[in-house]
Parts: sequence; C-alpha cells; structure tokens
Amino acid sequence: MAVQRVAVIGAGAAGLCAARHILSRPNSFARPVVFELTDNIGGTWCYDERVGSYDNGRPVHSSMYRDLRTNLPKEVMMFPDFPFDPQLSSFLPHQEVQRYLERYCHSHNIRPHIRFNTAVENVKPVVEEETTTWEVTSCDSSGGQKTETFDSVFVCSGHYSDPHIPDIPGLENFKGEVLHSHSYRYAEPFSGQSVVVLGAKASGLDISIELAKVGAQVTLSHGRPRLTFPLPSGIRQSSPVVAVQDDGSVRFQDGSVGRADVLMFCTGYNFRYTFLDADQLRLEIQDHMVSPLYRFLTPPALPSLFFIGICKIICPFPNFDCQVQFALAVLDGSVSLPSRAEMEDEVRRELQEKVERGVQRRHLLIMEKDQWEYCRTLAHAAGFPPLPPVVRSLYEEVWRQRQIHPQSYRSLNYRLISDTQWELID
Ligand code: FAD
Repeated sequence: MAVQRVAVIGAGAAGLCAARHILSRPNSFARPVVFELTDNIGGTWCYDERVGSYDNGRPVHSSMYRDLRTNLPKEVMMFPDFPFDPQLSSFLPHQEVQRYLERYCHSHNIRPHIRFNTAVENVKPVVEEETTTWEVTSCDSSGGQKTETFDSVFVCSGHYSDPHIPDIPGLENFKGEVLHSHSYRYAEPFSGQSVVVLGAKASGLDISIELAKVGAQVTLSHGRPRLTFPLPSGIRQSSPVVAVQDDGSVRFQDGSVGRADVLMFCTGYNFRYTFLDADQLRLEIQDHMVSPLYRFLTPPALPSLFFIGICKIICPFPNFDCQVQFALAVLDGSVSLPSRAEMEDEVRRELQEKVERGVQRRHLLIMEKDQWEYCRTLAHAAGFPPLPPVVRSLYEEVWRQRQIHPQSYRSLNYRLISDTQWELID
C-alpha cells in the first residue's frame, strides 16, 4: 500500500504531536506537511506582546499573558513519552512550556516539515467513488497561493483565538475600555482602575488576581455559586452583568448598578475554521460546537479529516497524544471504523444523553471526568499504552487544590513515584 500524505494545520502542541507520530510511522505515512501561519512553533505558548493584528493583517493568534503560569503541573501536562526537565518546578511560566515544545520539535526533527508563515485558506474534500482526497490551499508570506492534494488532514489550528463576547444589551453605551482576555497581556495599565471582569473560570480568576495585585478595584462578575475561597482584598464578587444602561453604567442581575473604567470579558472562545466549509463536510460548526464528530475527532461522512483537541476541560497534551495515535490507527487500517450510519447514531445518542442530563448546548464538548475513559477507549482500540492512572489522580488532586487555594496552589511541587503514585515534595 502506498504511503499516505497527511496535511497538518498548525504547529502548536497538537500539530507537533501529530507530526511526531506521523514521522514515527514511515512505512504508512509520507513526511507530513505542517502549515503554520506564524513564524514560530508553539501556538498558544508562543507569547506575543502584540494584540489585534500582525503586520500582514491576520489576527494575532496567541492569548498568552505575560505572567501566566500553568494551571497543571508539568508531571501531568507533558506528552506521555516526553517529560519536562525534572529540575523545573511543577507549575511553569509559559516560557518553559514554549522551551519544552521547542525541545519536542527538535528531538523529533519536526522543524524541516513545517512551512512557516503559511496560512491554510481552504480545505476541500474530493470524493471519487470509494476514495476521498483533500485539496488544501495555502498562502505563503509573499501572497503565493498553492493547492496540494493529501489523503488526510489534521486540523490542529487551536480553539483559543476567536474571542467569545456574549450579547449584552447596551454594550455600545459603555464609555470605558472593553476588552477580551485574548488581548490582555499584563496588569500594570489597569492600576488604580475599576475593572469588571466577566467570567470566573481559569482566566477570569487568574486575571482578577493579577489586577488586584497592581491595585485595580476588581468586580468579579459571574453566574457560578459564590466562590467561598479567600480572594485578595481588591476583588469583590457580583452577579452577571445583564446590561449597560444609557448613561454607561453597568447593571447586574441582582438589580445593582455600578460604574467601571474597564469591562474585561473572560468569557471564552468560539470555534472558528475559516478554511472549512461546514456544508461540504456535512458538519454543523457553531460558536461552541462542531457536530457530528465520531469520538470527538472525525466527521462520519469523511473520516479522513481529524480535529485534534476540540474537547474542553481536559488534560490537553496527553489527550492530543491519544487522539493522534487513534486517528493514525484509523488511517493505517489497524482500527476499523463502524459504518457512517452507526457512527452518526453513536454521536447522536451521546449528545442526546448529555442534553437529557441537563448539559447546555454550549457545554456539550466539556469532558471533565469522562476524559479518562475516553482516552482509555482510544488506547484500547488502537493498541497503544493507556495513560498511567497517576495522570488522573494528580490532575484531580490539582483541581481540588485550585478550588480551595486559587492563589497558592501553584507553589506546590509534585513528583511521580510510579504509574499509580505521586508525592508532594518540598
Ligand atoms: P494552539 O496552541 O492554538 O496552536 C494552533 C496553531 O495553529 C497556532 O500556531 C496557529 O498559528 C496555527 N494556525 C491557526 N490557523 C491556521 C491556519 N489557517 N493555517 C496555518 N496555521 C494555523 N493547557 C495546559 O495543558 N496547561 C495550562 O496551564 C494551560 N494554560 C492555558 C492558558 C491560556 C491563556 C490558554 C489560552 C490556554 C491554556 N491551555 C493550557 C490550553 C492550551 O491551549 C493547550 O495546552 C494547547 O497549547 C493547545 O494547542 P493547540 O495546538 O490545539 O492550539
């Protein structure tokens, strides 16, 4: 059988992981072509002080902020077969993750296969009898367009670049600055200002703490149950913002009204694939949902297109690693997929079951506890080693710590003792 040609869109963690596994299977796959729209690898982890657009007019990709430290310890964040430097502490500044990805790229010799400053503009399936191929059109920095044919496409373009701003009636009346965490880089410019932070998930909480440290008065506005752990004195909690009034004041759900210099939306991101035509792929692509995707990976109608890392609330790098290995096993024939109708049925049943449990539509891709069984199933089907149980156990411990000590959990250091055990170290 001829080796297959795979296009990988993006050289962030997911794209590098795809390239690494493709390169390790030379009997089944040609060397991949990795398209990367920026001039570097790392995606999210490649910190860029610019906000808005690059010189070429394309929107800035990374949402990384200057003082971010990881919210997972390196012991579980790592790709399963590629540890971080053991000398480093568990929770790392973003620069260390970027260095780690550079080391990963170097040690698997991926760089020669990356086309930098090259954006994928269109991905089109060409179906002829039993065979599907993919026409990938890309554009390089000189504006030169090229269309090439591949047997498969891995979409690794990331999901944290297109800011989601909820509809807030009267937002245009707000007199101060409106920004999204995508364009937040550091806290100093907000010193002395009153900032309403909308959303209290990972970024909302982290950014509120950074802002309070530089003397901003922060109103952390969210619809979650009141946070009971200690927050810095500059942060007070409020109910969600429901409107901005004609005079520019902000109205909250509990009826109170306040004024602010800044509205900071920490309200997540939309899925956005400018290079895909949803109808052509028989997919529904909405802000928070792509469906149907069998095993959250591939459209049943065209199972040689793979979306890596689309699920939310997961342990990202290990999850990417499992998805990539499963996808390659599908392509090389070691995993046989069910029929299209069966895959569509499975997806429908799974989503229906979640909806019946009361999961909102925009949360349907949240995995949380289900991620471990999901990864185990992929590993079992494709015959690669499952994630060691210690990954789950330490991940869950860190989540617990984050809920109790959001300001200090990153000062803890862990060590893995075995596949099942970890310990806390000084
Ligand atoms: P990205 O890193 O976004 O990479 C996508 C790549 O695709 C980019 O390089 C982009 O330039 C390229 N690209 C996009 N479109 C095109 C195109 N059309 N053509 C060519 N190239 C294209 N995860 C953790 O494990 N631990 C953490 O502590 C953590 N903290 C985070 C903090 C923040 C602020 C954010 C936003 C995310 C965080 N994450 C964390 C999640 C993080 O996004 C993932 O770990 C991971 O980096 C995602 O990798 P990715 O390859 O899917 O996407």
